[in-house]
Amino acid sequence: MPAPEEALASVFGFRAFRPGQEEIVRAVLAGRDTLAIMPTGGGKSLCYQLPALCLPGLTVVISPLIALMRDQVRSLREAGVEAGALTSGNTEEETEAVFRAIDEGRLKLLYMAPERLASGAAVSLLRRAGTGLIAVDEAHCVSAWGHDFRPDYLRIGELKRALNVPLAAFTATADEETRAEIVTRLFEGRAPETFLRGFDRPNIHLAFAPKDNPRKQILDYAAARRGQSGIVYCASRARTESLAQALREAGHPACHYHGGMEAEDRREVEARFQREDGLIVVATVAFGMGIDKPDIRWVAHADLPKSIEGYYQEIGRAGRDGAPAETLTLYGPDDIRLRRTQIDEGLAPPDRKAADHARLNALLGLAEATGCRRQRLLAYFGEDSQPCGNCDLCEHPPELFDGTDAVRKALSAALRTGESYGAGHLIEILLGNTNDRIRARGHDALPTFGVGRELSRPQWQAVFRQMMGHDLVRPDAERHGALVMTERARPILRGEERITLRHDLVRRAQSKPVAKA
Ligand code: ADP
Ligand code: ZN
Repeated sequence: MPAPEEALASVFGFRAFRPGQEEIVRAVLAGRDTLAIMPTGGGKSLCYQLPALCLPGLTVVISPLIALMRDQVRSLREAGVEAGALTSGNTEEETEAVFRAIDEGRLKLLYMAPERLASGAAVSLLRRAGTGLIAVDEAHCVSAWGHDFRPDYLRIGELKRALNVPLAAFTATADEETRAEIVTRLFEGRAPETFLRGFDRPNIHLAFAPKDNPRKQILDYAAARRGQSGIVYCASRARTESLAQALREAGHPACHYHGGMEAEDRREVEARFQREDGLIVVATVAFGMGIDKPDIRWVAHADLPKSIEGYYQEIGRAGRDGAPAETLTLYGPDDIRLRRTQIDEGLAPPDRKAADHARLNALLGLAEATGCRRQRLLAYFGEDSQPCGNCDLCEHPPELFDGTDAVRKALSAALRTGESYGAGHLIEILLGNTNDRIRARGHDALPTFGVGRELSRPQWQAVFRQMMGHDLVRPDAERHGALVMTERARPILRGEERITLRHDLVRRAQSKPVAKA
């Protein structure tokens, strides 16, 4: 059996391991159960292909994608490795050749679709073939949380038990629930050695900005990057069309893209983007899966993405070539309301909704971050890091202030009015302004009436937005966005915890200076 370093060079033609690969390869070679989480393109396949060559016996690779299996088998065979696949796409000769190689004890890697495991024949074949390792690609397919659930993946746990061999699972999906489910279902709850690597994309600059005039903000951003290929993501189809129009009027080559377009028109946009330099595509999240353009120089979000995973995936389309790339994400209270409503009104079961709120919270926390954004983003994915020097907050550290007083006033205004009003009405109460609605409901007689005159209306809006970002209040979709206090707000209201807010976000919006607490 070759040594791993030797095979790395002689079989794969690589000079060195990529970050993370070596440790994973060592753990797999040592016969330990492993779970490796690496982003797409991080080099997962090497982490099971290389051990397969260095270990005695056969490695079975379970993968959901026939095209991908066939590609891998082809390139392994070109490199002189005995590899084969059993898929529904096989010709009879191919299948026969695989069985012959197994019988002669030559086969090192056998790719198999999970559906094959439905018949008991697969298990006895794998046992007869001397299988010493099970590798599972796209392991998140075992999770019912995700959108790629493949029921046949549930049979892999049984296979592991039947063969009694180590299992190495690979996925690019990093969130907690999915990881936990992989451990339960593939490893029967016995924690594998887990590796989480390579989520950093240091060439991508990260920035967020509160949304005030999104059309102008995006036009200015594109104008400063004229001639560079970029993507603008929007939350609605209508908006992709109007923004693309506005960009064209400003002299940029731009087109829109969304799931409501004819397949042919979509393909044309994809082809143009691939071919042309400097095209801007204004799109919904429907644009992305198949894009393989290495020199996308910028990605802007005209609306807040759905979750921190979505954000990471969308900005990750920029700068695949490793050269500097830039991103900007706009967010405002309407976005937060929209995303919360989408979750609440969706068909998911309650615990799933709670998880979706948590993913949105993670993104809002990133938007309202008080320190390095990359550090926070990587921490979410489980990676420790230092401040990056390549994000807006590293470049311009925000001024912070103790916002406890302001937040408590706002919370008490919400509570004293029965958590039945949106930010607009609550702000009028805090400012001590009267209008018909306030008089009719007697809100001018509340003890909180007029206690917030030290801040202006835009400043209060910034405070409320940060409160939503910290998930202290949530708009209730069934009552027109009435703000309801969350559990997280209780310790602040009771005076047990203090809260730090960003001054710049409050001051940006303003005229009067903010009294520092
Ligand atoms: P993933 O499955 O994680 O999306 P792949 O296994 O397809 O990624 O690898 C992505 C690319 O990186 C492939 O082109 C592969 O040849 C290349 N690659 C993997 N490991 C190395 C390495 N150690 N050195 C150089 N290139 C590598
Ligand atoms: Zn940073």
